[in-house]
Amino acid sequence: MIRITMYNEFYHEQHKPNVKAIYPNGMHAAIKEYLDSEGSFEPMRVCTLDMPECGLTEEVLDNTDVLLWWGHVKHDEVSDEVAERVVRHVKDGMGFIGLHSAHASKPFRTLMGTDSHLLRWRETGDLARIWTVDYAHPITNGLPDYFELEHEETYGEHFDIPQPDDLVFVTWFSGGEIFRSGCTFHRGQGRIFYFQPGHETFPTYYNENVRKVIANGIKWAYNPGRKSIGTGHFRIKPNIESEWAGELQENFTK
Ligand code: ZN
Repeated sequence: MIRITMYNEFYHEQHKPNVKAIYPNGMHAAIKEYLDSEGSFEPMRVCTLDMPECGLTEEVLDNTDVLLWWGHVKHDEVSDEVAERVVRHVKDGMGFIGLHSAHASKPFRTLMGTDSHLLRWRETGDLARIWTVDYAHPITNGLPDYFELEHEETYGEHFDIPQPDDLVFVTWFSGGEIFRSGCTFHRGQGRIFYFQPGHETFPTYYNENVRKVIANGIKWAYNPGRKSIGTGHFRIKPNIESEWAGELQENFTK
């Protein structure tokens, strides 16, 4: 069973009545409710900004296969130390799912290496039509050609991410914009999936298709075979049986 941890800033839900009305126990509770009943995962662990070290201690990350991240107005209150710890664990093989405004979070920005906080946005509740564009990708399993969210925050290009390894979804908004809304990346042994829907004032995380995408993303990002990778000067003498092997092997023994 895959061990999931979700970091949620958990600020809007406690301070904005309109958000609290949609997510009385936090956005993480809506996601947890689905994932815990899906059958593939251990009960999801929840970490929030108000916990010491955001709850993301070395021990918690050591016991996390895939980390979900939702943050918006309090990115800077996540310490550099915690962000660096998350990045290190991703490179060592922990999966990372960046949800919505996580594009501007410290760990995601470091992992991208670009100004991934930069994009166009508009909060007018446009309809969002999320199109599958990579039908062979496991993250699209069980999903239709497209699905719609009646209201979402509009994100538009240009989105300053590096060229994704896989472009899985593209979203069209009724205001006319398009956005690369489902993208994957590899960093070290870690797999990263960014998924755009999830603005706090809309009930996006109750949508069955959104939930399915998140579950598929977690399964894809799960790397059960984390390895100790060898790098540096290669000291093992190769077994070469060619006419020039003698000279080459001599060089290796020097
Ligand atoms: Zn938003």
